[in-house]
Amino acid sequence: MQNVPLTVPSMLEHAETYFSKKFVVSRTHSGIHRLSYAEIGQRTRRLASILNKLGVKKGDKVGTLAWNHHRHLEAYFGIPGMGGVLHTINIRLSPNHIAYIINHAEDRVLLIDPDIVPLVEKVRDELTTVKAFIIMTDDNELPQTTLFPVYHYEQLLSEGDSDFQFIKPDDENEPAGMCYTSATTGNPKGVVYSHRGIVLHTMALGLADSAAVSESDVTLAIVPMFHANAWGLPFASVWFGSTQVLPGPQFTPQLIAEMIEREKVTLTAGVPTIWLGLLRILEQGNYDTRSLRAILCGGSAAPKALIKAFETKHRIPFIHAYGMTETSPLVVLSRLKSYQHDFSDDEKLEIRAKQGYIVPGVEMKVVGKDGEIQWNGEEMGELLLRGPWIADEYYRDERSKDAFKDGWLHTGDVVTVDEEGAVKIVDRTKDVIKSGGEWISSVDLENALMAHEAVFEAAVVAVPHAKWQERPVACVVLKDAFKNKVSKEELLDFITPQFAKWWIPDDVIFMDEIPKNSVGKFLKRALRDQFKEWEEKQSS
Ligand code: AMP
Repeated sequence: MQNVPLTVPSMLEHAETYFSKKFVVSRTHSGIHRLSYAEIGQRTRRLASILNKLGVKKGDKVGTLAWNHHRHLEAYFGIPGMGGVLHTINIRLSPNHIAYIINHAEDRVLLIDPDIVPLVEKVRDELTTVKAFIIMTDDNELPQTTLFPVYHYEQLLSEGDSDFQFIKPDDENEPAGMCYTSATTGNPKGVVYSHRGIVLHTMALGLADSAAVSESDVTLAIVPMFHANAWGLPFASVWFGSTQVLPGPQFTPQLIAEMIEREKVTLTAGVPTIWLGLLRILEQGNYDTRSLRAILCGGSAAPKALIKAFETKHRIPFIHAYGMTETSPLVVLSRLKSYQHDFSDDEKLEIRAKQGYIVPGVEMKVVGKDGEIQWNGEEMGELLLRGPWIADEYYRDERSKDAFKDGWLHTGDVVTVDEEGAVKIVDRTKDVIKSGGEWISSVDLENALMAHEAVFEAAVVAVPHAKWQERPVACVVLKDAFKNKVSKEELLDFITPQFAKWWIPDDVIFMDEIPKNSVGKFLKRALRDQFKEWEEKQSS
């Protein structure tokens, strides 16, 4: 067969040729913009030519600090389309970490949204490699800023070349993108995506039994474009010619509901917190969400109650999926097999709530205390992955050797696998509770607690124990209407029928809020630290 390199700019060329009349609907700080893929193509070529003129060379990193909108989409293709590397930066990280990753990646140019400018100004003096700042504003004038040299995105584009020929790599393994993921301790870790990895991952998003992204879709990526490439949805929407809605800065659940109704969105993607918010809004208002063919949910475990509410109350199919920044990210996705459609509703929910089956193209292995585990839905082990869109190292990072061994990515996620091959994430290796030599899944306990009507959020963590090594303790935030009205005994009685006795938490601590990290996941380390003191206080 011909050995034709798979490249990111080729995906946009396909859209320019075959989907030039299809639209991107983009919300920015000043309103809604509608641009055809023909316009997006020309603007992207202009951007690529301008970066070239600004001195960005092959292999140079160009950072973006931006929300989901059309200019960010242009950067997704324009940077790799001129030989550069698209480095999407998580704007919710601490200023220290942002400075670290810009320096560590050696970004030459930064593309910045106007509301993120103050954040960049804060770390400006620490940046050692950045030669130019470009502000992606709708306004004619640049905002007041101490950044220098600073350029206006639209003014630069007006000077660019709309016929610029994309520079494609001869080797598809060359870098096209990168993204840093937060580590439990220490600095964030960088993952580099190759042209080949991005293209193959995008193709996987189009498979009928995966997300099945197609021309007839209207996609809405709520997951940020700075988090694992918005799960690849911007790439897939362009390549397959879907209408693409980008929700822009500081959106609310209400705005999402309005966008779904107005733009007739068919496929949307985000983390469970987003869907909890949307659910609340759908229950309050009268929104037409009948266009939705699926909600894609990942990033942390989707509670069963959430899936059930969307599917039964709102008739919106819910697809649970799993991935990591290191895996592009999609690797596991939950769908019923054809012979499971006749199962009872409860059985089906049970299957749908698992993260599901490995996507074709990726391989997995699950290793427990005594080697590879039995596929019996009970035995737990760490999920190992390999495949063409799985990273093989962290960018210039000593910690690579801990996660990448013998050709496998060690995910740090503890899973079970059932007889059908469906994966269920039970915990992070660092969060699983090791009690008397056995493992207790904190996620299962949290899910059970969150099914109680009074519970808003629950996080279960291990506390050290003299006899059992570790024991579970539940941290619970009650809904406002139930504050001081529910006892810990009531909550424990509620979950007791679902678990072996030794799984039941030793205590329930009521809190006002559970600490979370920059992507909205529970910060269990902070809770454990809190309990270390709590334990010491108990014993002193
Ligand atoms: P990130 O790289 O920030 O996307 O985080 C990846 C991590 O999120 C994984 O290693 C899992 O621990 C967690 N994760 C992602 N998707 C799911 C899911 N569907 N259920 C449970 N945990 C998930």
